[in-house]
Amino acid sequence: MILDDIRGKIASAEMILVGLGEEFDHLANVRKTDEYEKGSEILQQAEMKWLLPVWYDYCESILKTDTAKVLAKLAGMLTGKNYFVVSVAMNDAIAQTPWAKGRLVMPCGSSRKLQCADGCGADPVALQKKDKKLLFDTMEQLFHGSFEPDNLKGLGICEHCHAPMILNNIYAKKYNENGYLEQWNLYTKWLQGTLNRRVLILEFGVGMQFPSVIRFPFEKIAYFNQKAEMYRIHEKLYQIAEELKGKAFGLSQNAIDCLRNL
Ligand SMILES: [Zn+2]
Repeated sequence: MILDDIRGKIASAEMILVGLGEEFDHLANVRKTDEYEKGSEILQQAEMKWLLPVWYDYCESILKTDTAKVLAKLAGMLTGKNYFVVSVAMNDAIAQTPWAKGRLVMPCGSSRKLQCADGCGADPVALQKKDKKLLFDTMEQLFHGSFEPDNLKGLGICEHCHAPMILNNIYAKKYNENGYLEQWNLYTKWLQGTLNRRVLILEFGVGMQFPSVIRFPFEKIAYFNQKAEMYRIHEKLYQIAEELKGKAFGLSQNAIDCLRNL
């Protein structure tokens, strides 16, 4: 029944704020495979956690999950609406989804840009085809039990300080946040426009890993905007604070399962 409500609210909302969370990076059927677990351990031991998002993407592609399909369905439902998507998940399927132009921000980064490992301040750059291939080949080796970190020298060096280039995401020791700054500025401007508007807030699978990016600010918007309504969908962390009762609703379901049924 709550899914019927959400469908109806999407149709009638003036503005829609969507949060995508950790559940998009934590599909049980990916994370519980031996290959995924072993590979993740190797990357952590090698202090190369910045490869984790591309490692996850690779394993998802091997296991043929329906994450991309489910996200495309959501984008389809939002077509023609005034919306913005904020994602703390780094899954590349999110970046590839055909959202409205410029309406996605990924503050934790992704596997789409490279940055200087020393975070010297040089702006992150988009991955080239050869970089994608190199990463894909390296992940394929990792999947088969061998990992050659030296291959990653092929990602090049920073033009300014000559440190190696690595993926621009929150797992980088010195994460360069300039990689998402432009989109973040668009997002904060969009948020200013939600004041006194009928805004629908949808949180899909957002846990407590980075609560200051989505959970806390979304609650604040729901609280202060008289016309706001909020739906929080999460397998475990679906609870709603007392002061939001009546305008916010929690659904205990995995976000991807929920979207499949929506
Ligand atoms: Zn540098």
